[in-house]
Amino acid sequence: MLVGMASDFEAQLRGASLRVTRPRLAVLAALHEHPHVDTDTVISLVRADLPRVSHQAVYDVLRALTNAGLVRRIEPAGAPARYETRVGDNHHHVVCRSCGAIADVDCAVGHAPCLTASDDQGFLVEEAEVTYWGTCPDCASRRPTP
Ligand SMILES: [Zn+2]
Ligand SMILES: [Zn+2]
Repeated sequence: MLVGMASDFEAQLRGASLRVTRPRLAVLAALHEHPHVDTDTVISLVRADLPRVSHQAVYDVLRALTNAGLVRRIEPAGAPARYETRVGDNHHHVVCRSCGAIADVDCAVGHAPCLTASDDQGFLVEEAEVTYWGTCPDCASRRPTP
Protein backbone atom coordinates (compact mmCIF):
# COMPACT_ATOMS: atom_id res chain seq x y z
CA MET A 1 0.00 0.00 0.00
CA LEU A 2 1.12 3.57 -0.66
CA VAL A 3 2.05 4.78 2.80
CA GLY A 4 1.89 8.48 1.94
CA MET A 5 -1.55 8.16 0.37
CA ALA A 6 -3.11 6.09 3.15
CA SER A 7 -4.08 9.11 5.24
CA ASP A 8 -5.61 10.75 2.15
CA PHE A 9 -7.75 7.68 1.57
CA GLU A 10 -8.78 7.67 5.23
CA ALA A 11 -9.78 11.33 4.93
CA GLN A 12 -11.78 10.54 1.78
CA LEU A 13 -13.66 7.75 3.55
CA ARG A 14 -14.39 9.93 6.57
CA GLY A 15 -15.47 12.78 4.31
CA ALA A 16 -17.99 10.42 2.72
CA SER A 17 -19.17 9.21 6.16
CA LEU A 18 -17.79 5.74 5.49
CA ARG A 19 -16.04 3.72 8.17
CA VAL A 20 -12.32 3.32 7.55
CA THR A 21 -11.62 -0.38 6.93
CA ARG A 22 -8.57 -2.12 5.54
CA PRO A 23 -10.43 -3.52 2.48
CA ARG A 24 -11.75 -0.03 1.63
CA LEU A 25 -8.28 1.48 1.95
CA ALA A 26 -6.79 -1.35 -0.13
CA VAL A 27 -9.37 -0.88 -2.91
CA LEU A 28 -8.79 2.89 -3.04
CA ALA A 29 -5.01 2.33 -3.16
CA ALA A 30 -5.33 -0.31 -5.89
CA LEU A 31 -7.52 1.94 -8.05
CA HIS A 32 -5.28 4.92 -7.47
CA GLU A 33 -2.29 2.93 -8.73
CA HIS A 34 -4.16 1.09 -11.49
CA PRO A 35 -6.99 3.17 -12.93
CA HIS A 36 -9.65 1.58 -15.17
CA VAL A 37 -9.31 -2.00 -13.92
CA ASP A 38 -12.18 -4.47 -13.74
CA THR A 39 -13.47 -6.20 -10.62
CA ASP A 40 -11.30 -9.32 -11.03
CA THR A 41 -8.16 -7.20 -11.28
CA VAL A 42 -9.20 -5.20 -8.21
CA ILE A 43 -9.61 -8.47 -6.30
CA SER A 44 -6.13 -9.70 -7.21
CA LEU A 45 -4.55 -6.32 -6.43
CA VAL A 46 -6.28 -6.14 -3.04
CA ARG A 47 -5.24 -9.72 -2.26
CA ALA A 48 -1.61 -8.73 -2.63
CA ASP A 49 -2.23 -6.68 0.55
CA LEU A 50 -5.00 -8.67 2.19
CA PRO A 51 -4.72 -12.30 1.05
CA ARG A 52 -7.89 -13.49 2.77
CA VAL A 53 -10.33 -10.86 1.53
CA SER A 54 -13.34 -12.46 -0.21
CA HIS A 55 -14.73 -11.67 -3.66
CA GLN A 56 -17.95 -10.58 -2.02
CA ALA A 57 -16.11 -8.17 0.29
CA VAL A 58 -14.46 -6.50 -2.70
CA TYR A 59 -17.78 -6.29 -4.58
CA ASP A 60 -19.36 -4.69 -1.51
CA VAL A 61 -16.49 -2.22 -1.12
CA LEU A 62 -16.68 -1.22 -4.81
CA ARG A 63 -20.42 -0.68 -4.51
CA ALA A 64 -20.09 1.39 -1.33
CA LEU A 65 -17.28 3.53 -2.75
CA THR A 66 -19.14 4.05 -6.04
CA ASN A 67 -22.35 5.01 -4.25
CA ALA A 68 -20.40 7.44 -2.06
CA GLY A 69 -18.88 9.08 -5.15
CA LEU A 70 -15.29 8.18 -4.22
CA VAL A 71 -15.00 5.78 -7.15
CA ARG A 72 -16.35 6.11 -10.65
CA ARG A 73 -17.66 3.08 -12.51
CA ILE A 74 -17.38 3.12 -16.28
CA GLU A 75 -18.99 0.58 -18.54
CA PRO A 76 -17.63 0.52 -22.08
CA ALA A 77 -20.03 -1.37 -24.35
CA GLY A 78 -19.23 -5.08 -24.46
CA ALA A 79 -16.61 -4.91 -21.70
CA PRO A 80 -16.79 -5.57 -17.96
CA ALA A 81 -17.26 -2.52 -15.72
CA ARG A 82 -14.05 -0.69 -14.84
CA TYR A 83 -13.35 1.47 -11.82
CA GLU A 84 -11.22 4.54 -11.14
CA THR A 85 -10.65 7.08 -8.38
CA ARG A 86 -10.59 10.09 -10.71
CA VAL A 87 -14.10 11.42 -10.05
CA GLY A 88 -16.03 14.61 -10.46
CA ASP A 89 -14.08 16.18 -13.34
CA ASN A 90 -16.33 15.07 -16.21
CA HIS A 91 -13.46 13.39 -18.04
CA HIS A 92 -14.05 10.95 -20.87
CA HIS A 93 -12.37 7.77 -22.08
CA VAL A 94 -10.73 6.44 -25.18
CA VAL A 95 -11.02 2.66 -25.58
CA CYS A 96 -8.99 0.36 -27.86
CA ARG A 97 -11.22 -1.91 -29.93
CA SER A 98 -8.50 -4.54 -30.17
CA CYS A 99 -7.15 -5.00 -26.64
CA GLY A 100 -9.59 -3.02 -24.47
CA ALA A 101 -6.96 -0.59 -23.17
CA ILE A 102 -8.55 2.55 -21.68
CA ALA A 103 -7.08 6.02 -21.25
CA ASP A 104 -8.46 9.25 -19.84
CA VAL A 105 -9.43 12.13 -22.09
CA ASP A 106 -9.99 15.47 -20.39
CA CYS A 107 -13.35 17.13 -20.76
CA ALA A 108 -13.26 18.94 -24.11
CA VAL A 109 -14.54 22.26 -22.76
CA GLY A 110 -13.57 22.01 -19.08
CA HIS A 111 -17.00 21.71 -17.53
CA ALA A 112 -20.08 19.47 -17.71
CA PRO A 113 -21.98 18.68 -19.83
CA CYS A 114 -19.10 19.15 -22.29
CA LEU A 115 -21.20 18.41 -25.34
CA THR A 116 -24.25 20.46 -26.17
CA ALA A 117 -27.06 18.24 -27.37
CA SER A 118 -28.26 19.13 -30.87
CA ASP A 119 -31.77 18.71 -29.47
CA ASP A 120 -32.15 18.17 -25.71
CA GLN A 121 -35.78 17.06 -26.14
CA GLY A 122 -36.71 19.30 -23.21
CA PHE A 123 -34.41 17.43 -20.80
CA LEU A 124 -32.22 19.35 -18.39
CA VAL A 125 -28.85 17.94 -19.48
CA GLU A 126 -26.21 17.75 -16.73
CA GLU A 127 -23.55 15.50 -18.13
CA ALA A 128 -22.26 13.95 -21.33
CA GLU A 129 -20.19 10.79 -21.00
CA VAL A 130 -18.21 10.27 -24.17
CA THR A 131 -16.43 7.09 -25.19
CA TYR A 132 -13.98 7.48 -28.03
CA TRP A 133 -13.30 4.15 -29.76
CA GLY A 134 -10.17 3.40 -31.73
CA THR A 135 -6.83 1.61 -31.74
CA CYS A 136 -4.24 2.13 -29.01
CA PRO A 137 -0.60 2.92 -29.94
CA ASP A 138 0.55 -0.63 -29.03
CA CYS A 139 -2.04 -2.31 -31.22
CA ALA A 140 -1.49 0.21 -34.03
CA SER A 141 2.25 -0.54 -34.04
CA ARG A 142 1.58 -4.31 -34.18
CA ARG A 143 -0.79 -3.96 -37.10
CA PRO A 144 0.78 -5.24 -40.34
CA THR A 145 1.42 -2.43 -42.78
CA PRO A 146 -0.52 -3.02 -46.01
ZN1 LIG B 1 -4.92 -1.98 -28.01
ZN1 LIG C 1 -10.81 7.70 -16.32
